[in-house]
Amino acid sequence: MDLHEYQGKELLKSFGVRIQEGIVAHTPEEAYHAAIELKEKYNSGWCVVKAQVHAGGRGKGGGVKLAKSPDEAKMHASNIIGMHLITPQTSAEGKLVRKVLIAQDVYYPGETETKEFYVSVLTDRGRQCNVIIYSTEGGMNIEEVAEKTPHLVHKEMIDPAYGLRAFQLNKIAFNLGLSGTAFKEMRSFISNIYNAFVSSDASLIEINPCLKSSDNLIIAADTKVSLDDNGLFRHADLEAMRDTDEEDPIEVEAKEHDLNYVKLDGNVGCMVNGAGLAMATMDIIKLSGGDPANFLDVGGTADANRVEKAFRIILKDPNVKAILINIFGGIVRCDRVAQGVVDAYKSIGDIPVPIIVRLQGTNADEGKKIIDESGLKVHSAILLKEAADLISKVLK
Ligand code: GDP
Ligand code: MN
Repeated sequence: MDLHEYQGKELLKSFGVRIQEGIVAHTPEEAYHAAIELKEKYNSGWCVVKAQVHAGGRGKGGGVKLAKSPDEAKMHASNIIGMHLITPQTSAEGKLVRKVLIAQDVYYPGETETKEFYVSVLTDRGRQCNVIIYSTEGGMNIEEVAEKTPHLVHKEMIDPAYGLRAFQLNKIAFNLGLSGTAFKEMRSFISNIYNAFVSSDASLIEINPCLKSSDNLIIAADTKVSLDDNGLFRHADLEAMRDTDEEDPIEVEAKEHDLNYVKLDGNVGCMVNGAGLAMATMDIIKLSGGDPANFLDVGGTADANRVEKAFRIILKDPNVKAILINIFGGIVRCDRVAQGVVDAYKSIGDIPVPIIVRLQGTNADEGKKIIDESGLKVHSAILLKEAADLISKVLK
């Protein structure tokens, strides 16, 4: 689950990280009042209007604007709220902006001492470590820096058993070219971010830019946080930050029914029990000339009710031209699944695309018989090869 910038900043602040402060606004009027509030608090009429969507690269797409007065903040907010923000990280249609963050201007005007760093913490699965990635060349072109001058991007591996150690903090602050107050500030900045990462079961925390002001303060000017869904049950406060407006509506509905669904771009919908079998099924679809429209693991208890929910979710995707159901009857019996498919089919009504059901395992033959005798336009198979051939046939 991803957080918005303002939510990520709140999280970091609770771990002692210094952030660029701001106020969320949903309308130009709210933006105006937020700018006035910041002006009174920080004694400067300048502020930044930042689109809050789950995508990076907002600056490049026109989603981050500097305002020199509350009136200007209002004007930028009225342009940004409601726009479809297109950035290098969104689709071609862009993302609808529903709210903006009115943030204090932390780049003092006329200041040449301001420095933008890049800092992120994530998990390196290959090495079974956490890793801090950092660079002196933060800002909007970090992807280009990483591509053209990779030696300017540093990595520090952290063994989760030992945690982040003092010498590593020193090394990072030193490699960032800091000394004196800024050195100490950076040490605690990194340490606080690492604590936030571990304590909130995050899979990514990225601060870009991470700013050194002319008075040697280290400030998070942007924040991207991704949380591990599997750890969310331990963080009700973070889970409450979920913004379903930002997520794929079909995925949101699937989650409500506890179905593990990921939307893909292809034309063959699939319904499978078990993640490994689902991956293998996607390979089979590819090999038989189709393209998976989704990943869907209905889990170990594929009863009629779940099968029906899964059907309805797959059918919401207009690209689906055929559906492959591939169930291994281990705990669940194939005849029960087959009956579930038939019942679901009848309850939904006429399903406009061909369905191929491949059942293997306990009571597979009984399952096939139920499908074959149902009189519905459902093809049954027992071998995966047969199922693959059927896919090629119905896609023709
Ligand atoms: P992103 O493009 O989605 O990563 O959005 P950022 O929050 O990183 O903002 C983009 C750029 O806006 C930053 O790289 C900065 O150059 C600029 N920016 C962010 N905050 C401020 C600020 O307080 N003052 C000024 N002048 N520029 C800012
Ligand atoms: Mn950024």
